[in-house]
Amino acid sequence: MSQASARLRYPEHEARHPWLAKLLDAYQLCDEAARADLARESARRGAPPACMRGCHVCCVGQVVPVSAFEALGLWWFAAEQLEGETRAHVRANLSGHAGHEHAQACPFLVLGACAVYQARPFTCRQHHVFGRPCRPGENLREDRPGDIVNAGQDAARALAGLVIPLYGVAEADVDWRFESGYVQSRSRDLHSLPFENLIHHMDAAARRNSPRHA
Ligand code: SF4
Repeated sequence: MSQASARLRYPEHEARHPWLAKLLDAYQLCDEAARADLARESARRGAPPACMRGCHVCCVGQVVPVSAFEALGLWWFAAEQLEGETRAHVRANLSGHAGHEHAQACPFLVLGACAVYQARPFTCRQHHVFGRPCRPGENLREDRPGDIVNAGQDAARALAGLVIPLYGVAEADVDWRFESGYVQSRSRDLHSLPFENLIHHMDAAARRNSPRHA
């Protein structure tokens, strides 16, 4: 799932939402760390990851933990950045998602690609598979756990230093909060997010930004 690791910039939006600037910093840090880990792992195994453009097996039927600020990032990106057919497709996915939860595809998956790639959660950035491409429905954790690499995990403490203060935690308390699993305890499965709320948010943003999204 890794691609470029340049820091994305949305100056107008970052000025309005200080949390967004920190989240984008954290995503860049995560991507850089994942890139370095994958290079090391590829060298060790003598082969690159099996993940390739167009493969989206890991976007179907999986639990995807997201923290509150990752969810906010998804909300922001879907409402303020998606346009045209992709936006319409995501909106349709979101309305069809209620009640199905993680038994189905991620609602941000559009025609085999991640529509929110720039704002995808940490888990999506870190999960990679070696060996061979995944088969639909394959249970990697049981069948070939050695092929799974969660790249960038060593950067978790640095990431926590960017994310935990967003919850209003003082710098001096970040370490012990990190050790106690603070962010995980405030995470939930992406599939259980209130997508009706996101649909309203997208519609309100479309009206506000019209005619850009008209
Ligand atoms: S957010 Fe994107 S990468 Fe992550 S599961 Fe959904 S479609 Fe896949």
